[in-house]
Amino acid sequence: MRQAFRSPLGATALAILALLLIMAVAGPALFGRAAAAVDTANILAAPSGAHPLGTDNLGRDLLARTVAATGPTVALALGATGVSVVLGLLLGAAPMLLGRRARGLAVGFVQIAVAFPGLLLALFFATIFGVGAVGAVFAIGLAGAPTMSRLIQTLVAALERRDFIAAARLAGLGRGRVMAQHILPNISEPLIIQTTIGAGNVLLAFAGLSFLGLGVQPPAYDWGRLMNEGLDRIYINPLAALAPGLAVVIAGLAFNLTGETLAKALRITTGLGGVQVDDAAFPSPTRPSPAKGAPAGAAADAALVVEDLRVAFGPAAPVRGVSIALAPGEALGVVGESGAGKSLAALAIAGLLEPPARVTGQVIFKGRDLADGADHAKLLGTSLALVFQDPMSAFNPARRMGEQLAELGRAHLGLTRSEAQARAVDRLGAVGIPEPARRARQHPHQFSGGMRQRAMVGLGLMGTPALLIADEPTTALDVTVQRQVLDLIDEVRREHGAALILISHDVTVVAERCDRLAVMYAGRVVEELARDRLDQALHPYTRLLLAAVPFLDTDLDQPLATIPGDPPAPTSTAPGCAFAPRCPLAEDRCRASEPPLEAGTAGRVACWRPGTPLPPAGADVIEAMAP
Ligand code: SF4
Repeated sequence: MRQAFRSPLGATALAILALLLIMAVAGPALFGRAAAAVDTANILAAPSGAHPLGTDNLGRDLLARTVAATGPTVALALGATGVSVVLGLLLGAAPMLLGRRARGLAVGFVQIAVAFPGLLLALFFATIFGVGAVGAVFAIGLAGAPTMSRLIQTLVAALERRDFIAAARLAGLGRGRVMAQHILPNISEPLIIQTTIGAGNVLLAFAGLSFLGLGVQPPAYDWGRLMNEGLDRIYINPLAALAPGLAVVIAGLAFNLTGETLAKALRITTGLGGVQVDDAAFPSPTRPSPAKGAPAGAAADAALVVEDLRVAFGPAAPVRGVSIALAPGEALGVVGESGAGKSLAALAIAGLLEPPARVTGQVIFKGRDLADGADHAKLLGTSLALVFQDPMSAFNPARRMGEQLAELGRAHLGLTRSEAQARAVDRLGAVGIPEPARRARQHPHQFSGGMRQRAMVGLGLMGTPALLIADEPTTALDVTVQRQVLDLIDEVRREHGAALILISHDVTVVAERCDRLAVMYAGRVVEELARDRLDQALHPYTRLLLAAVPFLDTDLDQPLATIPGDPPAPTSTAPGCAFAPRCPLAEDRCRASEPPLEAGTAGRVACWRPGTPLPPAGADVIEAMAP
């Protein structure tokens, strides 16, 4: 910040703004009397040593009036900016705070309002509110609100998708608290910048309304009013109109340059720019639909039973009927290529998918259907631990680590503030974070990647986890820390008897850590088998996937193996087996109808030709790929 304001641009902005504010505060006191002093002997005097800008039709000194007008001009501009910000915040936050229909209306309303030019809106509202300073404040404030609310809606929509918001919702926080505690602090920087730049534009607009006679009315005056009065004599004494005009330009520049310098200083790297709020983004709610019965083979005391889980985004269906069951303490590894639907299925199980996602199917967690009852958030908050792929985005960057853990203790465990804080420190210590009391007072950016993942596990341990979902938990970590995090997850699982869903694209990691593997392809589980029966895999995709894993004795002089082709797009409605275009065993039946997931010799498999040896030509399928 210091560096930015020491640059020529920043220093100029700061100097002009400081001068403007000093004039605004001291100007009326120092020049107010001179500005009001009527001098009938000097009516409409030309510029002179005594009156550098001349006098008006009552002989009042125009320089004194211009300086004295700084205070009211800036105050009115800030008032109108305040109206814009408050209304912008209300409208901008509405889509997140309101129900489905209301949020669609709020987004649509703002988009329509943004389509009108600001000045046109200001004139429209000024006509409604009537001439005068107060009417102009509201007219300009209302005219600026759509732009502000559009910015806020965009920022909120982008933040809503971040993992730490999902974690806050999982902790059971209501929408209002998520907005107040997690979203507003994180959008404050762009808001401050937009407000500062906006204040300059508002000042200009206010001067425009007063100049047109719709703003400040005599005997009060601001720069716009002075310009209006000076216009009559523009050819006789141009300074009478030019001086307040110049003041408007300089003041507008001061606000704009300060905003630009702030933007530069704060280095807005949130990646939120360009994110658009989709108008059609608020269709139906997404809780799993009613049950059809537990999957075959699921034990009565299963920790988790998922039946026919489907996720759709409009015509795209990235998850297409996932059915899995986990016993308490059991570890299930979910593998598959990127886009196979692994992470979406996990988020749907945790109830964290929001519109426009549509989730159907049944999720029974600890014997309770998550579609039933209002307390499913509490159940998930205390019994489900999530470890996200990117530990940086999993925590609110604006809040201390201890606070974020303690929040869950207060929301679900009924702990007081001090008890929750003590438990947060204890849990950070339990996951191996040194000096937990000191670390609890730090922010996420002060933690290393491995420590953030440990803290994420610690967050899950605020309750008593019955299920851990780890979604590619080591992707962002270096190899030595990867093992430590996986060991910690193992340790927690064994200590608490929790079931584990470990999602990875790395078959070897999953085979090492899990009891069973579920192989996903194009949104479905195509094979499920025990870890020690991997050599008995029946599905061609599983076998090709395993054959493509490099080992230490892999001849690195030879091209690495890969599976040719690409998975189908989620929007594909082609009949038959989704793997058929890439499968060396594909036949007419495969292309005509989709094979169901049925019991096989080593687990469950969805294939019309399970276990059929790959033809010799199948060797070509493991395509040569230059390293
Ligand atoms: S159903 Fe047919 S196309 Fe699909 S994996 Fe089995 S053999 Fe290959």
